Amino acid sequence: MSSVLITGAAGFIGSHLVKRLLSDGHSVIGVDNFLTGSKENLSELLEKPNFSFIEQDVSVPHDVSLYGSTKIDLIFHLASPASPNKNSPKSYIAYPIETLLVNSIGTYHMLLVAKEHGSSVLYTSSSEIYGDPAESPQKETYFGNVNPTGIRSVYDEGKRFGEAMVMGFVRKHGLNARIIRIFNTYGPYMQKDDGRVVSNFINQALVGQNMTIYGDGSQTRSFCYVDDMVEGLIRAMFTEGSKGEVFNLGNPDERTIRELAELVKKLTQSSSDIVNQDLPEDDPKRRCPDITKAQTMLGWGPKIGVEQGLEKTIRYFKTV
Ligand code: UDP
Repeated sequence: MSSVLITGAAGFIGSHLVKRLLSDGHSVIGVDNFLTGSKENLSELLEKPNFSFIEQDVSVPHDVSLYGSTKIDLIFHLASPASPNKNSPKSYIAYPIETLLVNSIGTYHMLLVAKEHGSSVLYTSSSEIYGDPAESPQKETYFGNVNPTGIRSVYDEGKRFGEAMVMGFVRKHGLNARIIRIFNTYGPYMQKDDGRVVSNFINQALVGQNMTIYGDGSQTRSFCYVDDMVEGLIRAMFTEGSKGEVFNLGNPDERTIRELAELVKKLTQSSSDIVNQDLPEDDPKRRCPDITKAQTMLGWGPKIGVEQGLEKTIRYFKTV
């Protein structure tokens, strides 16, 4: 059993990862500054004997001793705002500087902790590093098409810098680190107000408000259920031969945003109207992961289909 440090532990994917690692028998130290994560996500975890929590912004210089003297075997560095919706108070658009810092200096700090402890590292990058992709589906070998000064650039370039920093430590110091490019992920404990498409559509459908498609809804995304994502993160960390590798994790079942709106409307039996609003700046037209590498090297693929996952998520949203 391992001693694990997770940054972004109060976030959506982070809190699911903590739960899974604890139930697998590992000891977990969670770190978060609650910028976009939420204390409620941790409420049932704080009582668990093998879990401890440290409130810390990992972008700010801090002493490695903060994490105690027990050797940390594994570090999952997830901390970062992640929603692009400019209307949401929790988006990376609302926190542009913090987003750049946590992925650059924050990543540097966590890599220094890993170097000190001899830990293995998993850095969660994003499909956003592909920008508005000129090829689809996106393979890990695709370099992307990012606007370096556009509204999304704080996240895209932050993640690209983070990836480069991780590879710097792998090459210079032989650190055992891997990079995951997370594609759209959804499920219970998503932030209700983060402005992402799945949470917006479900919220709107459940109360009979207009469901807001940005643009004409022909843009595509692919939606991965959170339990599948967590399984992929764990496999990437524990599989031999993943050092220095980059993996796309996501569900390759590509859907248009209009199809998603219609599906959520059907599953919630909602009487909401589906309406169109302005498309945000630099909104990618297509997003679909090529997951051949994760399938081959990690034996991983999503098991929960979009309909089934949305049903579980809708059930959760009815309770919050
Ligand atoms: N979107 C939408 N209505 C909403 C929220 C988002 O049509 O209420 C669109 C958004 O413009 C994008 C897609 O849904 O094309 C996915 O948006 P999200 O914010 O979930 O994540 P992204 O993949 O853009 O990072």
